[in-house]
Order: sequence, then structure tokens, then C-alpha cells
Amino acid sequence: CALEPRAKVSDACASYADLDQLNNRLYPYVHKLANNTDFFSYYRLNLYNKECPFWSDESGACGNIACAVTTVENEEDVPAIWRAEELSKLEGPKAKHPGRKQQKERQRPLLDQLGESVGESCVVEYDDECDERDYCVPDDEGAAGKGDYVSLADNPERFTGYAGEGAHQVWEAIYRENCFSRPPTSDRSVGLPGLSALSPGLSQNQAQAALDFKQVMKAHDRQGATKSGTTEENAPEFEDECLEKRVFYRVISGMHAAISTHLCHDYLNQTTGQWGPNLQCYKDRLHNHPERISNLYFNYALVLRAVSKLRDYVQDYTFCTGDSAQDAKTKNMIRQLADNIPPGPQIFDESIMFQDQPGLADGLSLKEDFRNRFRNVSRIMDCVGCDKCRLWGKVQTNGFGTALKVLFEFGNGHEDQEKPLLRRTELVALINTLDKISGAMKAIEHFREMMVVVELEG
Ligand code: FAD
Repeated sequence: CALEPRAKVSDACASYADLDQLNNRLYPYVHKLANNTDFFSYYRLNLYNKECPFWSDESGACGNIACAVTTVENEEDVPAIWRAEELSKLEGPKAKHPGRKQQKERQRPLLDQLGESVGESCVVEYDDECDERDYCVPDDEGAAGKGDYVSLADNPERFTGYAGEGAHQVWEAIYRENCFSRPPTSDRSVGLPGLSALSPGLSQNQAQAALDFKQVMKAHDRQGATKSGTTEENAPEFEDECLEKRVFYRVISGMHAAISTHLCHDYLNQTTGQWGPNLQCYKDRLHNHPERISNLYFNYALVLRAVSKLRDYVQDYTFCTGDSAQDAKTKNMIRQLADNIPPGPQIFDESIMFQDQPGLADGLSLKEDFRNRFRNVSRIMDCVGCDKCRLWGKVQTNGFGTALKVLFEFGNGHEDQEKPLLRRTELVALINTLDKISGAMKAIEHFREMMVVVELEG
């Protein structure tokens, strides 16, 4: 790594300044790819038919749509458009996924529902087998149907009003997966302790993340950049935590930070009815927690590195059979994107992970543990009690799962093995996750500018 060889922090090595610069260049491109191509803007998932596998709805800590409604106080007093239920609804064309027989018959009904502008072969997916090297549970696992198609472009991630006990319980369950010395799996269906019981585990991770952030900032400052302006002075230093555990935590926390950023940046002012950035929300959830922002940047580096590794893979990938012009264009866009990402370890050096640690752990079982935990995080998404939040939660966990699969199963000692196939949903999730992270970084830049204005005026 160019900046901090094998240093813990640098789990991702590039500095904020590097990544901001890169993002300024890549963001328009990534955003266009995710939102303006048929291939990447429709996602198939099972949004409604899967039950939360970790707790029952009757327990009061719910995982169904009704919960999203009850999280807003005095629901009846606010106009319908402000209610969590309304804000959680999905917009745009939505189609039932056809069975294989229907697929062979060139699904006319699906096309009719999606509209003439959408090329059939760009949204239909045939492959649904899973691979033991997956870091995510395929969304059709154990479900009655194979899911619905949803337009991602029509359902931006934004404020929905989903909050309170239901949302906290989901986050808590997600962070518990990072607890590598957690209780046995069977304990988790019984009910989970409150967030306060979780905090000892969290604080160590958060402290490490803060330490990581400090070190990243040192590297950043050495380069003469002072843009972020945030520091974490009192964080204790934990030197003994394993790299893989920390990476797991950073991925989750960075994903959480991206979600918080989007909901703060596209927030509904319930007094004026206007959508727009909410600076206080940003301060409370992100600015005052620099380690969360650090984790978001970390995720950017990790996902970019995965996308860059796909360059050769997409060479032979069929994006939309039957529409060769669009196929070639989409493929070319991915290649262009990959070509503009700095090579390998300058961005993120995955090769230092899952090495044997004499006397402690062997790399392979560490990786299996890591993979199983990540799969559980993807299962927890069925406990999210708001349609839009569940949609984006699923897209992003699948996106990170795909990034991890590409990073750790393509190359790095696996050269002799066949590369695992990527499903269409995995590729779509990966690019849309990159778009979410990239957009969150732009939103943070905007919030920082707003803060400067407020400071000058105040
Ligand atoms: P929460 O964000 O719920 O956080 C709970 C606790 O986790 C915090 O008190 C803090 O201790 C810790 N924490 C917070 N952020 C981080 C971080 N980055 N790293 C580490 N620890 C952290 N709401 C929407 O309006 N729109 C959405 O699209 C949306 N999507 C969601 C998707 C998922 C998967 C989930 C679980 C929730 C989603 N929500 C969404 C709800 C949203 O994330 C919050 O839960 C809600 O706004 C309440 O926020 P809060 O301030 O109580 O803290």
C-alpha cells in the first residue's frame, strides 16, 4: 500500500483527499450507469414473501409493514404523504417474477408492465442457483415465489420515517454479527437485549474505527489536505483486534453511515412539507461521529477495488441478450469505469486478509466465519419493517456481499479455480451500492459546505 504498508488502519490505504478526488471524477459516471441503463436500474428481489428469521412479529419488536406505521407518533394527525407508511411505499413499475416456463415464452405480460422503453432481456434473469462462495443469501432462498422486479431509479433512498424500536432492533442484530465471540445462533431467535447491552462490544469497535480514522487523517494531513476538519481525540487505542473483524465492522458501520447520509440529505421537513438536506440530522448522525464517515470512505475503497477487479470478467458477460447495442454500451461503461480506478493496493489491499495467524486462526476458517456472518446480515434484512428501507437494505447487503465475493474469491490464490459466476442481481446490486456510497460522499461534501456557510453567518 502506497501510504501505510500493512498498517491496521489502512485496511484501506488511500486518504480522504485521494478518495474525494476520485469520487468527484467517477460519481457522474457511476450515477449514470446505475440509473440510466435498463440493466442496472431494475432489481429482482423477494420483498414481501420472506419472514424475519430472527424474531416473531408478535414479540412487539416487529419486522412487518405495520411497524413502520406505528413508529411515527400521532400518525393520524399528519397528512398522508408524511406518514411512514406512505413514505415507505414503492413507486414505479413493479412486476411479478415469471416462472421459467413463462420466461421461455418471452414474457409479454412482464414487458407490458414495465413499459415499452425497457428491453426485456435486460431485466429478466434466468440463473438462480447459489454458490457456496456467496457472501449473501440469494433473495429467492426458501421463498415461495422468486420475487418482484422493482425500479431502483424510481425508489430513491431517502427519509421514510422508519425509526424507533423496530429499526433499532434490526441495527442491533446486524452489529451482533460482528461479535465474533457471540452466543450460539439458536440464542438469537429468542429475543435480543436492548442497544445498551450491546454497547460494550460496539464501543471497542467504534474506538478502533476512531483510531483508524485518526490514522487515516494523519496520512491525510501529511498530504496537506484539511478538508474534513473532524478529529476524534479521546479514542482509546486497541491494537489487538484482528483485521478481519474490524473490516466486518467497518463495512456494516459504513453502510449504516451511507443510509443515514441519504436520509438526512433527502429529508422531509414535516413543517413545510419540503424535501431537502437536514443539517442537524447530518451533525447528529455523522459529523459528530467522524469514525462513521471514515467507514463510509473505507467502503468506497473496498467496493471500487471490487469493481476494478471485474474488468476482465465482464469481457465475456452477456448483459442483455437480444439487444446487442445496449449490451455493448453497458459493457463498455463498466470497462471504462474499471479503467479509471487506480490499480490494486493503492486503493484497497485485500491480499492481507484471511492469512493464517499462527497459534490463533487459520485463514480459511476465518474466511468461512466471516462469510457466514455476512450471510446472516443479509437474512436480517427481512426483518426491516419498511418497504423502501428493506429494498435498499437488501440491495446494499447484496452489493457488499458481491464485492466481498469478488475480492476474496476471484484471484488471490484461487487462480487455479474457476471464478464463481455472478448473478445478474449481484452485478446490479454491486453497481447500485457503489452509486449509494458515491452519492453519500457527495452529500457529505454538500453538508460540509452548508456548515461553512452557517459558521460564517453565525
Ligand atoms: P439509528 O440509525 O437507528 O442507529 C442506532 C444506533 O446505532 C445509534 O444510536 C448508534 O449507537 C449506532 N450507530 C448509528 N450509526 C452508526 C454507524 N454509522 N456506525 C456504527 N454505529 C452507528 N430510514 C429512512 O428514513 N430511510 C431509509 O432508507 C432507511 N433505511 C434503513 C435500512 C435499514 C437496513 C435499517 C435497519 C434502517 C433503515 N432506516 C431508514 C432507519 C434508520 O436507519 C434509523 O434507524 C432511524 O432513522 C432512527 O435513527 P436513530 O437516530 O434512532 O439511530
